[in-house]
Amino acid sequence: MTKAIRIHSTGGPDVLKWEQISTPNPGPHEALIRHEAVGLNFIDVYFRNGLYKTALPATIGMEGAGVVEAVGEAVSHVAPGDRVAYAGGPLGAYATHRVIPADRLVKLPEGISSQTAAAMMLQGMTAQFLLHRTFKVQKGQTILVHAAAGGVGLIMCQWAAHLGAEVIGVVSTEAKAELARANGAAHVIIGHANLAAEVKRITGGAMVPVVYDGVGKDTFNASLDCLAPFGLMVSFGNASGPVPPVDISILNAKGSLYLTRPGFATYTANPADLNAAAQGLFAAVLSGAIKIQVNQTFPLAEAAAAHAALEARQTTGSSVLLP
Ligand code: NDP
Repeated sequence: MTKAIRIHSTGGPDVLKWEQISTPNPGPHEALIRHEAVGLNFIDVYFRNGLYKTALPATIGMEGAGVVEAVGEAVSHVAPGDRVAYAGGPLGAYATHRVIPADRLVKLPEGISSQTAAAMMLQGMTAQFLLHRTFKVQKGQTILVHAAAGGVGLIMCQWAAHLGAEVIGVVSTEAKAELARANGAAHVIIGHANLAAEVKRITGGAMVPVVYDGVGKDTFNASLDCLAPFGLMVSFGNASGPVPPVDISILNAKGSLYLTRPGFATYTANPADLNAAAQGLFAAVLSGAIKIQVNQTFPLAEAAAAHAALEARQTTGSSVLLP
């Protein structure tokens, strides 16, 4: 049997129910995995509270790592006993076991534990495409990263610093500021009340060529004000709520800006892109350039407590749920 966290309706953390379901059999192109660790991500909150839609009842969760137990007859690149990890859809990671299209699985190298993999696959591959593809960060550039002590944020600070960029991190507390600094942020701004003025001071008036904003509603306008002419606004999440509709003339008024809303699904739709992102991440972690910080673990059965902590901004770095 499989134990899973399921939702029958959307709402607060209390809609997350620990239930017993039958273990599915893999279809021809699928694999059955026994999870050793499951990743906690802000996107799980959006599915739980209804911001992102799914059919109900649903087992939420988009990231996990474990061991292949069985594969369908058309599967050849993974086999029972392989250590694997994945990130992205379809939903279903909050479970002891699950089936998944086998082409979403990446074999884990020696040296990367299931806990580390479950912590990093979604946040780390997101950091990979944001820094290398959405905008190709170059040595010497100064960039702005919101929620710099969070899951995606801490990885971005380290990776961007490794690329030779100067990171200005934005966080909400002094403790988070310290953590961001320890992970490569050259400058840290606490709060976003005077964001543009602070960025102006730090950059000597030049402002930044790119802003990475996963906070959404609360920071969108302040972020635009931090960009140099022709700068790129990367709005990649909604931790504070979704960004309301935008009047595009604002992009002209603030300096012929570019705006993108990138999504993990598009950047990893092609298995070759998925594999390249995963291998880039593994290499960065195995070389020591990036340290994945699992700063919170929760029993999977207590996913509600994990969601409450994430939404209350009490977590730093990555969090893992243990089946
Ligand atoms: P984090 O660990 O970064 O947690 C969210 C952080 O956002 C908080 O710790 C907090 O940091 C900050 N925040 C600001 N305002 C609020 C608020 N009102 N409520 C809660 N948090 C707030 O989460 P993740 O690393 O999992 O995700 C970061 C962002 O990246 C999310 O928006 C997520 O949806 C997005 N994302 C997007 C992907 C994509 O493909 N587009 C893929 C993966 C993640 P502080 O206290 O310092 O302000």
